Amino acid sequence: MSTRTYWEEEIETLPRPQLEQLQLRRLQEHLAFAYQRSLYYRQSFDAAGVKPADLRHLADLARFPFTDKKVERDRQLAVPDLGDMLAVPEEEIVFVSASSGSTGVPTLSPFTKKDFDDFQNAESRLFWAAGMRPKDRYIHALNFSLFVGGPDVIGAQNLGALCIWGGTMPSDRLLYIMKQFKPTITWTTPSYAWHLGETALKQGIDPRRDLHIRKIIVAGEPGGSIPATRKAIEEIWGADLYDFYGLSDIFGACAGMCAQKDGLHLVEDQILLEVLDPQTQQPVPDGTPGEMVLTTLLKAARPMIRFRTGDIVTRLPGLCACGRTHARFVVQGRIDDMFIISGVNVFPSDVEFVVRGIPALTGEYRITVYEKDHLTRFDVEVEATADFAHEGESLARQVTNQIKLRAGVKPSNVKILPDATLPRATHKAKRLVDLRGAAETARASGI
Ligand SMILES: [Zn+2]
Repeated sequence: MSTRTYWEEEIETLPRPQLEQLQLRRLQEHLAFAYQRSLYYRQSFDAAGVKPADLRHLADLARFPFTDKKVERDRQLAVPDLGDMLAVPEEEIVFVSASSGSTGVPTLSPFTKKDFDDFQNAESRLFWAAGMRPKDRYIHALNFSLFVGGPDVIGAQNLGALCIWGGTMPSDRLLYIMKQFKPTITWTTPSYAWHLGETALKQGIDPRRDLHIRKIIVAGEPGGSIPATRKAIEEIWGADLYDFYGLSDIFGACAGMCAQKDGLHLVEDQILLEVLDPQTQQPVPDGTPGEMVLTTLLKAARPMIRFRTGDIVTRLPGLCACGRTHARFVVQGRIDDMFIISGVNVFPSDVEFVVRGIPALTGEYRITVYEKDHLTRFDVEVEATADFAHEGESLARQVTNQIKLRAGVKPSNVKILPDATLPRATHKAKRLVDLRGAAETARASGI
């Protein structure tokens, strides 16, 4: 069993025409199910003048209305507790996760027994693709408290790995457990993987020599797909980094890197991918960034039809060398974090790409977006390592020029700070400060 290449070879390597046939059949059934069983979908399809039977080809999905976080939240508030997007009676629900609520009311994500099993099977598949095998020891370092990524550990357990249900805990304790239990794989955010590696070194623990982690799975931020960030974390740990993507509105991780590390494979037999121009909502060609819109194909408790994720991704053209046929994408960042400078879309990940690629910098950064003279501008703060602290001016020039090359526009100011000045993230990093809308005079001067 452990010599096999894929978790589920047949489904993962299904030729595209057959995969799309399967998706079409599942989508037709799923739309009909949602229409019959969910009051919300019945009303929204009726309002848009579409019926499930109108879907004859996958492209017909474009005729169906979008959903998004706001719809999800509004329906939950309108019909407590689980909302009228729900398509099964509550007695069939066995699990709910809740989003962090950082942007409003926490939204719940319900699962039937079968939904949950499908979810965990998807996790097993992604873990297997990232190289986890039954002989591995896995420490799950994600939050277990309501967070949808908590139960993903079951996918690793079902695969046969020895699982340590770590959860979130103080870094000292996590490092101690890593020393004692010798896990070979962990999963956390890129910021935290970086932070934990730095903390270990400061405590005299060399992760490469003293710990046994050989693979790190990351999710929750774009860093795992930014080559320089990936390399920096891999170097601290002497481990291989795999980027996963998930969203609480559907389930834990629904896409992940294979050994080729050329984009993230979506679990495409369970979830349908559209990549659309955020303004026109028309499909963009492969290789062009657009908003990721996802549609569940199996999740019965609460179908998600054309869910606008708010994430900008690029779908990669062609097939992956690993033999898997399922779509691959690269995450650019959140639409909400994107800012426009002189008509150019800029993502914090562009800045990160540059900052993490310059060895004289610590890798930490902060971006401040603001308005001056009716123009949107941005400043960047970075830290020089102790050895390069005296080269501030040339470093600032280097950062400015490389951001211009990468993003097409340059920051108004780049400030070089001493090491350990910027706040270190222990979970999701907040590296973008948006002062737009604030009075220009209120902006702290100096950079
Ligand atoms: Zn692949």
